[in-house]
Amino acid sequence: MPPKKWPIEQLAPTSRYRAGHRDAVSRAGHAADTTGWRRRLAQIEVDDITLALLVSAVRASGDLRDAAERCGLTVQKVYGRMAWDARFSEQLELALAEACSGGEHCGTVRGYRSGGRCAACRTAKRLDRGPRRPT
Ligand SMILES: [Zn+2]
Repeated sequence: MPPKKWPIEQLAPTSRYRAGHRDAVSRAGHAADTTGWRRRLAQIEVDDITLALLVSAVRASGDLRDAAERCGLTVQKVYGRMAWDARFSEQLELALAEACSGGEHCGTVRGYRSGGRCAACRTAKRLDRGPRRPT
């Protein structure tokens, strides 16, 4: 007896995605599924000891790029981790604020250009971009 074939609309979004369907619900299901998988992988790749070393290095130098490189990470990977790891994000934000290289210009674009990467310097830089071009 051949296996029963379910109508595609009755399958779970991830199953529909695996069957080649790319509608919004199938893509969202696939994205949610792989996001969890990628984060579990990231937690294995970058352990708590490495994150603690990174926070210490940032607190000592205020240079996020240098600290990340010394820990075998990229700045993009660090910011990516901050986006979903609230505990790490809080610790790193405190270290960045304590050791901000912006000095007296902290919280301004000039502070950012001086190497300041605390939340206030990053926000000032982001707001300085000006109006977005229409797409
Ligand atoms: Zn700053």
